[in-house]
Amino acid sequence: MPLRRPIRPLILALCTLLAVAGCSADPAQPAPSSAATQELAVQAVNTSAESSDAESARSAELLRLTPADLHAESSWDLPRYLVQWPAVPGHDGLTRKIREQMEAWKKSYVTSMRGAERANLSAYWSATLNHEGIVGVRLTAETTAADSATESVALYGDPANPWTSKDLLRSEDRPALATMMREAAQKFTRETPDPDIPPADPSDQVFQDVSFTDAGQVQIRVRPGELASMSQGVLQFTVPEKHLSPLGEKVRAAVLAQGRENHSTPSASATPAPSAASRTNCAVAKCIALTFDDGPGPYTPQILDTLEAKKAKATFFMLGPAAQSQPDIVRRMAALGMDLGDHSWSHPQFTLLSPNEVKREVRSQADVIQRLTGRRPMGVRPPYGAFDQSTPHEGFPFILWDVDTEDWKNRDAAITTRRAVEGAHRGAIVLMHDIHPSTAKALPGIIDQLKSQGYTLVTVSDLIPQLSPGSAYYSGATGK
Ligand code: ZN
Repeated sequence: MPLRRPIRPLILALCTLLAVAGCSADPAQPAPSSAATQELAVQAVNTSAESSDAESARSAELLRLTPADLHAESSWDLPRYLVQWPAVPGHDGLTRKIREQMEAWKKSYVTSMRGAERANLSAYWSATLNHEGIVGVRLTAETTAADSATESVALYGDPANPWTSKDLLRSEDRPALATMMREAAQKFTRETPDPDIPPADPSDQVFQDVSFTDAGQVQIRVRPGELASMSQGVLQFTVPEKHLSPLGEKVRAAVLAQGRENHSTPSASATPAPSAASRTNCAVAKCIALTFDDGPGPYTPQILDTLEAKKAKATFFMLGPAAQSQPDIVRRMAALGMDLGDHSWSHPQFTLLSPNEVKREVRSQADVIQRLTGRRPMGVRPPYGAFDQSTPHEGFPFILWDVDTEDWKNRDAAITTRRAVEGAHRGAIVLMHDIHPSTAKALPGIIDQLKSQGYTLVTVSDLIPQLSPGSAYYSGATGK
């Protein structure tokens, strides 16, 4: 299996349009395959099945990015957004185009969604190509408000020039191709166009996401509402190669060459979860669980140094972009036997999101942890501790806390220490944040004082060995 396969969309429906025959909407029925008569194939793709984080992690490797090359902007206030993009080393023109597109999406979203309660924008990227200086990147924006919408743009470039998707197609072919795509979309969706509404000029919007399969097939994705009604979603067309411009041929050749050169590399070697034998038996020991949220951050290595030196364990509830951009820290946590937890992708308040948005937040973070360590997170800590009966658990237990150091508020090592130690009791789950220097500074003293009181510092899964999906835990069974 090629290592760098493009995003594999969930195919909701697939039908091949023939010049003569109509469209078979039954996906179980094999599509007639007469290459001579085949003009365009069209399918609906569910882009929300493309997990942004796992794809970005693969993509960061493909583009050989360092954490410094990854940019993320987020707002936790309304309207909420998380916009992420890469600076592609050595490709300044392409990087500029990427940034411009992301900023354009963010600006139009913030302007149109100002004050909207339910609004959420997630803009992310994936790399499709990096071969001999030719790079391909797909940018995707998903907005949720009253309705949800998805739009994607594929950009390409070499070190000298950026190219848009449109540049990959023969300019003289584009008008006819747009017409064929419109007709194919109408057959596929069985929608009849409103004769009163003239078709929009397709020159830009129809050709903004041109990409290639591993086999070199040319695919064009069109955003909802462009060639069919919004409810039809994203449509993907497979078009004949003869419409490629010389530049398009060059990019396609790079895709094929990249596919040939792909050697399978071992996937992230699984770091085995601590075996039952190595667990502390908290029925016997006086256990307490320190937990750290919102990282990894700049002080996390120092916190891990302290835990390692003092032979203490803890649990880290991480955010997606932070974990993704600092894989070595996450792997070190795993190697040290820490619990790895899921604090969502972008720290939204779950009770303000739709169930699908919560699922996406939880799953996308979990996929990063899985990819980096081979392990699924042991549980989910909902941001702000906010969840209710309708919050999807995605197979995870909810891990809350019963001792709050308020370290994020006091930012004071002495106060944080006092609150941790005074709140301590057998079975306690203690809330801290590994993004504050005062917390890192407080930790050695906290551990020393707890140990002097006979505590063993353990992970949450040591404290509560039988965590069950969908249940909420505030402390160990012996606590509270
Ligand atoms: Zn948090």
